[in-house]
Parts: sequence; structure tokens; C-alpha cells
Amino acid sequence: MKNRFTLTALLIASSLALAGCGAKQPDIDRIQWISMGTVAAVQSTDSARLPEARDRAQKIYGRLESRFSAWTDSSELARVNARAGEARTPLSPEFAFVASNAFAFCRASDGAFNPLVGSIMKVWGFNGAKATPKVPDGDTLKAAAALADWTQASLSGDSIHLAKGMKLDFGAIAKGYAVDAVYDELISSGYTNILIDLGGNLRATGESAPRRGGWRVGVRDPFKKYGVLATFLLRPGEATATSGNYERFVTIGNVRYSHIMDARTGTPVRGMAGVTVIAPTGLTADGLSTTLFVLGPKAGAKLLASYPKCEALWIPDTPGKVTLLATAGFAKRLTPMGKVGYTISVVE
Ligand code: AMP
Ligand code: MG
Repeated sequence: MKNRFTLTALLIASSLALAGCGAKQPDIDRIQWISMGTVAAVQSTDSARLPEARDRAQKIYGRLESRFSAWTDSSELARVNARAGEARTPLSPEFAFVASNAFAFCRASDGAFNPLVGSIMKVWGFNGAKATPKVPDGDTLKAAAALADWTQASLSGDSIHLAKGMKLDFGAIAKGYAVDAVYDELISSGYTNILIDLGGNLRATGESAPRRGGWRVGVRDPFKKYGVLATFLLRPGEATATSGNYERFVTIGNVRYSHIMDARTGTPVRGMAGVTVIAPTGLTADGLSTTLFVLGPKAGAKLLASYPKCEALWIPDTPGKVTLLATAGFAKRLTPMGKVGYTISVVE
């Protein structure tokens, strides 16, 4: 039941990310399917090459699912986690690459982004946990947060050591990496017009209409089932990712708990509804959107200064008074949609 609900939420999130184009787009075709537990899509003005793009993308997503899925016992991630507490575990080069980027975000954000969040996810009932979700007691939270102590994991080159009980989870970065892998393959196969979407992680080349300068994509209204607050132009080569508290959550009592954790306390982040990032690659956009969701606008904008060509937009979880907090570069790109019932502030 929980899974079906999650999928519905993701379907809505993804289609809105693409539908928020405002202007009429009669010549764009789209193929959509389910992959890596979310909605995958490719979109292009060159419809003849779309089925091939879909097939190439699906092959890559299948490979990456077998590396990074937290839902099966047979993925490389599950095998690495099962060896926590034992001697060093050898990693595939692709796994080592994603892991080293994940730990780089972890160090840069002082643990706000934490790829060892797996044990915390489990105690809150995510990632296929079997028991009905309930709020974990203080000792359980403390134990789960201790298992996210990233100073106790050591990644070096193509092997890793995890302390006993630790669980890696690349849910915050794997989809962005996957979008980059598809983008690189399609570019090297001669595609000049394509938008790749994996659950709201987008990367594109070309433009959705002549002289538009890129693809216009939507910022979903986190407080409405269907709705776009604003659109912005995604320039050729750029990526964008959104982290939202509405995408995946558990409901315990009447309270909704988001799937994004503050690993320092072992508890779901509260107070933030959505964060959208524009970045030069999908991996950076995905890693940063989760990091900035945890950090919030003040600490987040400070961190962002060390990521060139990245922009961010925060939407605090205040449905009664919708506010968009954007970096100056993001604010400049925003085109409000419909009757604007919110304010935009620039975060310095
Ligand atoms: P995203 O939608 O990209 O923000 O990723 C959210 C997913 O990342 C969650 O479903 C977890 O699998 C994982 N995750 C949750 N909290 C964190 C965190 N603080 N740092 C890194 N990964 C996290
Ligand atoms: Mg992310």
C-alpha cells in the first residue's frame, strides 16, 4: 500500500516537472515508463529516435538498479552492506565512483548529506522495512544515528570498510548519476535534441522550440496535487533535480514524515517542502538538492558558494504562506505561472 502510494506521488511529481512548459509544444514527443522505482521518460522534437533513446536508457537503468537498489538482496549495494563489520570489500569502478562522490558531499556538508543513512531509513519504515511504521524511541534513534557515523567508514580507491551494522544508501544521488550516464551515451550516439527525466532528475540538450535556448521546465507546487508554481529554462547540457517532502513519506498517526533524514539526529527533516537545484551534471544536482534540503537556505547558500554554476530554490513547508527562496541566479530564471499567490525572496 505504502509503495503504491509512493509511486502515485512520483508519477505526479515527474509529469508536472515536464508539463510545466507553459507554451504550446505541438512537436515534442515523450515516452514514459517505470524504472529504478520511479517514472522514467525521454522527450524530443525528433520522435523517430525516441524509441532507441528509451531502449538505451533502460539498459543503463537496469544495470544501475542492480548496483544501487536498496530494495533487493542481490544488488552490489546489498552485498556491500551485508559485509559491514568484515574486512575491506572490493567495489566495481562505477560503485566506487558514486561512493566517492557521495562521501565528498558528506564531508563538504559536515554530514548533512550522509550516504550511511540506510539504518535510519529502516527504523522509520522506509526501504522495504517490514513492520508497520512507528516513531522510533530515543534509544533506537541514537543507535541508528550512531550507525551513520561516516568517520567510521573508510573508502579508499576501489574498496570500502563499513563498521558492523552500517548501511549505505545512495537514494539521494544514484538517479542523478543515472541521468548523466544516459546523457553521455546519447550525446556520444549523436543525439542533439533530448530531455532525459528520471523521477524529476532532468538533463537535456538542444531546445524544446527554435530559439528558446533550452527546455522550459516546471517547479511543482508542493502543496497541491497538480500544479506548477513557476517555470525556468534549463540550458543545453544542464541538469536539475528536486528533493521534496511530498515525494516519499510515511504517515504515523496523523503526521507525515519525509524520506529525507537529518542523519545527525536520526530524524526526518521538518520545515522544508521542496528544494530544486540547477547544476552542470545530474549527479551534482541530485546530491546538492538533498544536501540543501537538510541544510536549509542559510547554511545551504553558504555551501553553494563552493559549487560553481549551481543555483538553488527552497520552498519552506508553510502552505498558508507560500514563499520561494532563490539564489540570485535562480530568481532571474523564474517565470511565475498563473495567478501568483506567493512571494520570491533572494537568498544571499
Ligand atoms: P532525494 O530525493 O534525491 O533528495 O533523495 C532522498 C533519498 O536519499 C531518500 O529516500 C534516502 O534514500 C536518501 N537519504 C535520505 N536522507 C539523506 C541524507 N541526509 N543524506 C543522503 N541521503 C539521504
Ligand atoms: Mg538528491
